[in-house]
Amino acid sequence: MRMRSHALKFGTRIIDGRVQEVRPRTGGFVVRGHDFSIDARSVLIATGVTNRRPAMDDTLHSKALALGCLRYCPVCDGYEVTGQDVAVIGDAVGAAKECEFLRSYTHQVTFILAGREGLAESSALHLKKIGVRLIGGPAEQFQLDGKRLSLSTAAGRISFDAIYPALGSIIHSDLATALGADVTEEGCVKVDMHQRTSIRGVYAAGDVVIGLDQISHAMGEAGLAATAIRNDLDSSYPRFR
Ligand SMILES: Cc1cc2nc3c(=O)[nH]c(=O)nc-3n(C[C@H](O)[C@H](O)[C@H](O)COP(=O)(O)OP(=O)(O)OC[C@H]3O[C@@H](n4cnc5c(N)ncnc54)[C@H](O)[C@@H]3O)c2cc1C
Repeated sequence: MRMRSHALKFGTRIIDGRVQEVRPRTGGFVVRGHDFSIDARSVLIATGVTNRRPAMDDTLHSKALALGCLRYCPVCDGYEVTGQDVAVIGDAVGAAKECEFLRSYTHQVTFILAGREGLAESSALHLKKIGVRLIGGPAEQFQLDGKRLSLSTAAGRISFDAIYPALGSIIHSDLATALGADVTEEGCVKVDMHQRTSIRGVYAAGDVVIGLDQISHAMGEAGLAATAIRNDLDSSYPRFR
C-alpha cells in the first residue's frame, strides 16, 4: 500500500486489470487489457510465477500458510524450521535438492512422492545416504492438526511441523513469448545484465526471469530495469530541461 501511494505521488497511473496482449507498433508497443489500451515506448514484464499447489482447498491453504506449516521457499524461511519435523512433496530432481537443502537446518526431513511414480534410484539412494526419509505417494487429504499439517500417504496419515510443496511453478512469461522474446527451457525470460530481453524495448524482472525467486532480488532487478529503460529511452529520445 505504501509503495502504491508512493508511486501515485510521482504521477504513476495504476490500472487494476489483466494485460491480455502486448503488440509491437512503430516506435513502441500497444498494451491491451479487457477495458484499456496503452501506447508505450518500453514495456517491463514482471508477471511472476505461480507455485503449483498440493490438492487442498483455498481456506485450508491460507490457514496453513498463516500458521507456517505450509511453506514454499526454503531459501526464504529454512532457518525458521531449524530442528523441526519437515516434509517436502514432489517427484522431481528439484524436490530432492530441496530436501538436501533443508537437511542443513533439520535432521528430520521426509521426502513424500507427490504421485504414484517412484523417484530415480540414484536420487533415492542419495537422499537415504544423507538421512532423508522417503515415503510413497500420492500425497493427499491434507488437514490441520493444531499447528501441524497432516496428510495421507502410502505409509498412512502423517503430520509435520511444516510441509514444503516442491511441485514446480507456472511461469507467467506468455506475454514475453508472444512477442518472440527468448526464454529458457522452463519458460523463464532470458535477460542481459540490464534486464533487457531479446526484444528491443522489452525488459523483464522478478520471478519471471531466471534466477533466485526472492523479493529483494526482484526489487534489485526492477531497479536495474528502470535504469536501463531510462538510459535506453534517453539515447533514442534525449530530453533536456
Ligand atoms: C508463500 C510464499 C512465501 C514467500 N516468502 C518469501 C519470503 O519470505 N521472502 C522472499 O524474499 N520471498 C518470498 N517469496 C517469493 C516472493 O514472493 C517473490 O520472489 C516475489 O513476490 C517476486 O516478485 P515479482 O514482482 O516478480 O512477482 P509477483 O510478486 O508474483 O507479482 C507478479 C504480479 O503480476 C501479476 N500478473 C501476472 N500476469 C499478469 C498480466 N497478464 N496482467 C497483469 N498482471 C499480471 C500477478 O497477478 C502478480 O500480482 C514467497 C513466495 C510465496 C508464494
